[in-house]
Amino acid sequence: MKSALSNLKDILQKKEKASHLLLFLDYDGTLTPIVKNPDKAILSPKTRNLLKSLTKKKSITVSIVSGRGLKKIKSLVGIKGLQYAGCHGLEISSKVNGYAFSHIKKYLPLIKDIKKGLAKQLRKVDGAQIEDKGIVLALHYRRVPKATIAQVKQIFDKVTKPYIESKRIRIGKGKKVLEVRPSVDWNKGKYCLYLLNNLKKRYKNLLPVYIGDDETDEAAFRALKQKGITIFVKGEKKTSSAKYYLSSTEEVVDFLKLLF
Ligand SMILES: [Mg+2]
Repeated sequence: MKSALSNLKDILQKKEKASHLLLFLDYDGTLTPIVKNPDKAILSPKTRNLLKSLTKKKSITVSIVSGRGLKKIKSLVGIKGLQYAGCHGLEISSKVNGYAFSHIKKYLPLIKDIKKGLAKQLRKVDGAQIEDKGIVLALHYRRVPKATIAQVKQIFDKVTKPYIESKRIRIGKGKKVLEVRPSVDWNKGKYCLYLLNNLKKRYKNLLPVYIGDDETDEAAFRALKQKGITIFVKGEKKTSSAKYYLSSTEEVVDFLKLLF
């Protein structure tokens, strides 16, 4: 990986050649620093103003691509005119019912069952936090004491095992989080390609730029590596298949200001 800031000239050259930019931004760990309580991951006024000004530009389409539920990410960012994707692209704001595929709805009862099972087993475990995002269930263990983390993972494996074996769900892993997702062939990378192909009808010479920090962003890095500019934000996770890196969420803002 190369530093995006030290290689700004190369990136600007690519940008000059494009007639339209499609800027994909992850939220947690990319636009806001990772915090112990996810409800406290609030955009700084500086970052929000920057996003607002980018959204107003005719030559850029901005899409927030988050693992959070669509409703949550929309309220956290709170800017109109952006394209939002929640639950790693399974939820899409521009779709009529909000889902990438309408058949995803059939997974809702299943996710509820798993939630019940996990809640029961984790009742006495300190710090384990279950987040129901509708179509995705997250088990956060950032606040679980170190000595109990293995136990939490064991419980998660036990509860989800029958559903995995019957191929009804998939497991996702992120920073101090385990997730239950519907067993559909979809991820952040597929969402990016979907939006890219949609916009290709309107714009020629479209350049995608993706900035993200976590495991789920890797699918997008792989999907876009040959097509555009992929940038990894270094934090708890150190390695990535992105071409460039930035060292912090502050650097993300600096970079975007220099680029636009
Ligand atoms: Mg992230």
